[in-house]
Amino acid sequence: MNIFEENKNKNTRVESLGEFGLIDYLTKEVKLENKSSICGIGDDAAVVDMGEFYQLASMDILTEGVHFNLSYTPLKHLGYKSVAVNISDICAMNGDAKQIIVGLAISNRFTVEAIEELYKGIKLACNDYRVDLVGGDTTSSASGLTISITVLGKVAKDKIVYRSGAQINDLVVCTGDLGSAYLGLQLLNRENTIFKENPKIQPDLSGNDYVLKRQLRPDAPVKYIEILKELEIVPTSMIDVSDGVSSEALHISKASSVGITIHEDKIPIDYTAMNLANEFNINPIVCALNGGEDYELLFTVSQSHYEKLKKDPDFTIIGFVTDLSEGNNFIAKDASVHPLKAQGWDAMKSEE
Ligand code: ADP
Ligand code: MG
Repeated sequence: MNIFEENKNKNTRVESLGEFGLIDYLTKEVKLENKSSICGIGDDAAVVDMGEFYQLASMDILTEGVHFNLSYTPLKHLGYKSVAVNISDICAMNGDAKQIIVGLAISNRFTVEAIEELYKGIKLACNDYRVDLVGGDTTSSASGLTISITVLGKVAKDKIVYRSGAQINDLVVCTGDLGSAYLGLQLLNRENTIFKENPKIQPDLSGNDYVLKRQLRPDAPVKYIEILKELEIVPTSMIDVSDGVSSEALHISKASSVGITIHEDKIPIDYTAMNLANEFNINPIVCALNGGEDYELLFTVSQSHYEKLKKDPDFTIIGFVTDLSEGNNFIAKDASVHPLKAQGWDAMKSEE
């Protein structure tokens, strides 16, 4: 019996589990056997004991047609972004990224010059974040471009932050602003559709530089890690915001066995993003909660740091940690309480 016959009746669709369900399903029996493996699957990066410090390792894949559309994504920006999104996972552990390893699968549609552009962006990000490109792998792909980057980093043992350390009554804090990258993507998709229908119409991207940058060439949240260090703050838990702040809050909740409450009126949204959301007739809060790709940090921290955080415009206190039994909640401006959901886009829209 060959493998196809053996699996004839096993046709569970991946969508039925979802990304996180699939990871849980595939890895539920994985055990860590080596003493040096401190933390495996389930956080933003794996943690390896190197004696004096912890080594961090994480990997993110960007696939053409899923994560990027080359009709409007400059390859140099794409190179930069693929490095930045990886470094973001090292930041989420309160660590410093040090090395990257780059894997490329390239279809024959790409020229040397195109891949060179991608590499200009990769090198620029390496330079900006003082990360060394130390290896990789290059292969062909049947169609499209796939970029897989592994990042290695370092953190002092007493400064590491996991998703699992949130304590009841902690503050819930996010960096920067939320929802902009999603709105940047909506704008690019809209202009791309218009252009495809009528190539004579030039894209109208004016006044939206900020959201476009957030989508096309995001920064890794390294500066916030540096500020936290200066402020002598070590969060109790942390995660980077790659899938929307709702989804990330739920990860912290699950890993820390606590409830998280987020207040709508506290969520930081950039004013150009706000204007654009109005233009698209989307609730900007929904973009912040479920949009994704912001590459900000979401963390919990003891209330003893309240004064320091309140004074610093880099950080916004958006909620607090409760007992697990209180669940995860979103308090709207009118004080109504809603369960916090991941990818609750449609649910939230129907609640408006
Ligand atoms: P992030 O969004 O921070 O990059 P992911 O959501 O991609 O993290 O992954 C969640 C966790 O699952 C991480 O600890 C990651 O290392 C692990 N993981 C993801 N895909 C796989 C896989 N195919 N096999 C084993 N572990 C995986
Ligand atoms: Mg992450």
